[in-house]
Amino acid sequence: MSKAILIEMLKEKQLKITPQRIAIMEELEKNGHLTVDDIFNGIKLRVPSVSLATVYKNILALQNANILKSVKTPTHKQKYEINTSPHVHLFCKICENLEDFEININNFKEYCKKESGYHCIDEASILLTGICKRCSNTRK
Ligand SMILES: [Zn+2]
Ligand SMILES: [Zn+2]
Repeated sequence: MSKAILIEMLKEKQLKITPQRIAIMEELEKNGHLTVDDIFNGIKLRVPSVSLATVYKNILALQNANILKSVKTPTHKQKYEINTSPHVHLFCKICENLEDFEININNFKEYCKKESGYHCIDEASILLTGICKRCSNTRK
């Protein structure tokens, strides 16, 4: 995503375009899943005037606008990511790395809707835990 697209996303949600918001989005775009502290540490070099409180406030605004999504990890560290196409998260219990796994979960959602009798199912957050390839290789 280019900077222009990030600006478009803010415009579309009628959010004010500020250097802090752009920096937060760029940081997440570049690095994937980050905690508030990660984001703060990442952008304070580029936006030296930024405070942790400002970062919090902006993340909340971006999350409310559905531009960011929060991801809860089993270590209870709240992470954030740019809201992309639906995907499943894989979490390694050893290195605690969180990664995306692209899979179409529409059939799964349909199935759950049918079986549960829910009128609609819109959001899904699926996190699978296990041991990643890298960690299982080093164990051998
Ligand atoms: Zn691992
Ligand atoms: Zn993700």
